[in-house]
Amino acid sequence: MESALYEVTGNIAVITLNNPPINGLGLDLRKAVIASIDRAGQDPAVHAIVLAGSDRAFSGGADVKEFGTPKSSTEPNLLSVIRTVESSDKPVVAAIAGACMGGGLELALGCHFRVAKADAQIALPEVKLGLLPGAGGTQRLPRLVGLGTALNMIVSGSIVPAAQLKASSLFDEIVDSDVRSAAIRFAQRVVAENRPLRRVRDLQIKDAGGEAFLQSARDKVAASSKHFPAPLKCVDAVAAAYTKPFDEGMKIEREAFLALMTTPESRALRHAFTAERAAAKIPDVPADTPTRHIGRVAVIGAGTMGGGIAMNFLNAGIPVTLLEMKQEALDRGLATIRRNYENSMKRGKLSADQLEARMALLQPTLSYDDIKDADLVIEAVFEDIGVKEQVFGKIDEVMKPGAILASNTSTLDMNRIAGFTKRPQDVIGLHFFSPANVMRLLEVVRAEKTAKDVLATVMQLAKKIKKVAVVSGVCDGFIGNRMLKFYRNQANALLEEGASPQQIDRALENWGMAMGPFRMGDLAGLDIGWAIRKRLYAENPGMKRSVIADRLCGLGRFGQKTGKGWYRYEAGRRDALPDPEVDAIIAAARKEAGITPREVSDEEIIERCIYALVNEGARILEEGIAARASDIDMVYLHGYGFPAHRGGPMLVADLAGLPNVVAKMRGFAAQPSADAAFWEPARLLVRLAEAGKTFN
Ligand code: NAD
Repeated sequence: MESALYEVTGNIAVITLNNPPINGLGLDLRKAVIASIDRAGQDPAVHAIVLAGSDRAFSGGADVKEFGTPKSSTEPNLLSVIRTVESSDKPVVAAIAGACMGGGLELALGCHFRVAKADAQIALPEVKLGLLPGAGGTQRLPRLVGLGTALNMIVSGSIVPAAQLKASSLFDEIVDSDVRSAAIRFAQRVVAENRPLRRVRDLQIKDAGGEAFLQSARDKVAASSKHFPAPLKCVDAVAAAYTKPFDEGMKIEREAFLALMTTPESRALRHAFTAERAAAKIPDVPADTPTRHIGRVAVIGAGTMGGGIAMNFLNAGIPVTLLEMKQEALDRGLATIRRNYENSMKRGKLSADQLEARMALLQPTLSYDDIKDADLVIEAVFEDIGVKEQVFGKIDEVMKPGAILASNTSTLDMNRIAGFTKRPQDVIGLHFFSPANVMRLLEVVRAEKTAKDVLATVMQLAKKIKKVAVVSGVCDGFIGNRMLKFYRNQANALLEEGASPQQIDRALENWGMAMGPFRMGDLAGLDIGWAIRKRLYAENPGMKRSVIADRLCGLGRFGQKTGKGWYRYEAGRRDALPDPEVDAIIAAARKEAGITPREVSDEEIIERCIYALVNEGARILEEGIAARASDIDMVYLHGYGFPAHRGGPMLVADLAGLPNVVAKMRGFAAQPSADAAFWEPARLLVRLAEAGKTFN
């Protein structure tokens, strides 16, 4: 396949980028553009050149297939391509439709003129990968759209429709259809009028007060991007476009780009980008596996989870039937959904029409007769195996053949649930996270007999409802909650040894976790864990007790909902305030256990909590519960508030060096107060460390 098509109409050469789906700027395409520009340059019959893409994309930027391979930097690199285009003696007009992003926009900025379709999507999104545009974007864009607009686009990475940039000099013409013909006509006019070439590099940024603007931008960006170095580097580079000659600015941009490329933050963001794509692939479910049509969904249970789950589908335009046991519960569920939408409306995120359109897709019912034709039914009733058995027995009886039967259970055995039906191949776990309409993670629990086309269908559907789906095998807690137990174990151990809830929360929050374990516990409610512990104590009388947590619960301190938990809360407020009563309980428990509290460092808190996640993550990998380490990272990034700039627990371990992680674990095991068995490093971890390998 030719990477760029070349044709001549009249006196205009048209070069069409041809690397579907989005004209990623891979090596072959880069070579082809240079060859085509040269060819047009040498043809005396050609007086101007149009550089066009497809309707879907002028170019979406770098070719992701080349990420991390030598090809990505092999000459001609993008800078060389742009140099060739810009220095052409014959005018080059970009014809822009669809995505024009990153390197794609930088290429367009190297052209002498630009004609765009009004809805073309314009962006320099590199900052989202912890980088900045590295092929002149920071130098050329401000020369055409001004400092303010350029800086906004570069620091946010957001997509702007071409029409919105109408007032700037970025586009010479904006059209509603057939951008290619418009660009050819425009090129003909340039030739006929003998217009001089306009090279963006030669333009000056006219902006009085630019210095003051840049300074205030720097302050704002510094305040809002504390964990990420890229946004400030973007400001520096744009500032150079204003204060320095073009070539010097280009050098500053280049240096910043190369420096950012090696930062852990950019590593983390690029890891998450590829991990999200990888998670969508299931090793033994080929991409061409047929899928089942999902035109209508039923949700059983209109409680905390059921309502949020239903909203995901309504938002995607898929009708939902919501089933409850009692009218009262149904009414409550419906009112919550409406209230959530009304809140979005107040925040300007939804119009009144959209709200009504979504509510109109929702059909409440008390009768199983109304859900029998749904293509997918998701059960979100009480977490009780008896109730699940009754519900799955019923849906097995009423649902049409081929319907997918899903459970949102967070702890129960999916194989057992599948066994409640006569069609276990159609049963799957869809574990949403609370609030289900907000959290992006969806753990897809693959039971022993789940059919491949069921998996393929839900993975496709997850994308439609904008979730990040990660497949988990069946085990207690699946990927996320199973690991969380180990993280919490260490938080509790550190508490006994001498740290306070505040110190532990603060250390982890400063490190980047959205919320420390104790504040999180107070938010989620401590009573759920207490109930589970009481059951476990009864089943295993010898097991170690969580004395401090049990005492708090014994006093009715269930967290925010009772105004007291690990912290105290003032009425109507969510601030977690330290509570001397808790300190006294902790001190008493330490004394009874004969523990002399010691000074615990923040570093120890972070390492013990995070490496506890890593060790269990390694076991999960070893057992095949997760297919790849990056899937585990996705679970933590999208379901547990793990900091984006860290890239997930498994990447943290990789970047620390697995031999170092193993050595730390052995060190923790050797501490006098330690549970040595807890810190036995997972076999896979030891194997990888010894082989000098990483998880990812
Ligand atoms: P909830 O108590 O808020 O809601 C359960 C709803 O199911 C109630 O409205 C109840 O009336 C209804 N219900 C109970 N039995 C029913 C039946 N036989 N038929 C129809 N409706 C019935 O509970 P929740 O927090 O929404 O949890 C639901 C499920 O989701 C559980 O399996 C839970 O483990 C799981 N889950 C919960 C969370 C969370 O954070 N709350 C997160 C992930 C998964």
